[in-house]
Amino acid sequence: MAKGLFQSPKGVRDILPEDQVYWRRVEDAIRKIVDLYGYERLDLPVFEDTGLFRRGVGEATDIVEKEMYTFKDKGDKSITLRPEFTAGVMRSFIQNSMDQLPKPTKLYNIGQVFRYERPQAGRFRQFYQFNVEALGEVDPALDFEIMSMAYHLYDELGFENLSFQINSIGCPHCRPGFHEQLTSYYKQRFNDICTDCQTRLDKNPLRLLDCKREQCQPIIEVAPSMADCLCDECRDHFKTLRRYLDDAGRLYTVNHRMVRGLDYYTKTVFEVWAQGIGAQNAVCGGGRYDGLSEILGGKPMPGIGFAAGIDRIVMSLQAQDHLKLSRPAPQAFFVTQGAGAKEQAVRLIIELRNAGISAMLAFGDRSFKAQFKEADKRRTRFTIVIGEGELEGQYVTVKNMSESSQENVPWSELVEYIGK
Ligand SMILES: [Zn+2]
Ligand SMILES: [Zn+2]
Repeated sequence: MAKGLFQSPKGVRDILPEDQVYWRRVEDAIRKIVDLYGYERLDLPVFEDTGLFRRGVGEATDIVEKEMYTFKDKGDKSITLRPEFTAGVMRSFIQNSMDQLPKPTKLYNIGQVFRYERPQAGRFRQFYQFNVEALGEVDPALDFEIMSMAYHLYDELGFENLSFQINSIGCPHCRPGFHEQLTSYYKQRFNDICTDCQTRLDKNPLRLLDCKREQCQPIIEVAPSMADCLCDECRDHFKTLRRYLDDAGRLYTVNHRMVRGLDYYTKTVFEVWAQGIGAQNAVCGGGRYDGLSEILGGKPMPGIGFAAGIDRIVMSLQAQDHLKLSRPAPQAFFVTQGAGAKEQAVRLIIELRNAGISAMLAFGDRSFKAQFKEADKRRTRFTIVIGEGELEGQYVTVKNMSESSQENVPWSELVEYIGK
């Protein structure tokens, strides 16, 4: 078939009917987890004021610097397609006075996010996230709950060798001291670091530890560690969280180099690692952001959350041969000959659907052979035939496609016959 005049833009794609069964499986797992942990859905607009993300995500982040879809609308207002959920959740929490709700307020989102990234395998410019936030509580037991939820989701979906990487990146009391140590350490090595890191040094020193360039790795290796700079409160918080993890028998590694890319994180940051496609790697990440509410003009309101990429989960499920999920198929497919037979089929289909049984009709005027071919393609369980004889005798011929057997069933007994 000709490809037509238009193709989908670079970096985005269609999620086709044959893939939907995997998406549905992920959505089912999500629904199960949010109910188990008591989280409620919050739907947010796909676009927001650009300022929300500039302030909420942070100016010196890759997202804001390079990756946002920002444009002027017809009213000359700067609009941005959401590149993540947390800033929007906090905006909504403040705007809708959700601080009146019991704390922590437990929320989740599912939907598209948009980032202008270099397209590569498994990375899209419009992708889907499952995002969870708990607001209004500083208790490290909540950090543990959020981490458990992320872990539970991947476990539920059959991911193996699950573990955590965790770190504490401190708070406004102890982080400035660490910044100072880190900055002076890097200043002495200014000529050895990559140009990105040279800029980060002024704008966002924590992200120096995040650099992926080869030349910066030996410098990161022996850089000062946040762990040595944590204030008592941050150190206790981290210690208590680790006690919960130990108690639950969860595997984790304390990774002092993990800072996460976003400005608003405080204290706990974490990643879930799993055996996905190929090597063990990070499948999901999150952390605490106790300062975000104030950044957005709200009153102090601690929070913690995580985001999981659904596209990657789906790819990983599809790569697991044993799963081989198949598309939903109708239970009954009607083939008919003549106007009277088709009218009767339409009546019976109404009865079947009302009884919760999926049923389809072969449309148009085609030969029995062509209609049977369609029944086969649609992988129906029963093909139901109404020809002249059946119409006369007020019955249908029901062909069981998997057993290649058939039986005559009176119209009045069809619902019961198929439903059993
Ligand atoms: Zn601190
Ligand atoms: Zn670097």
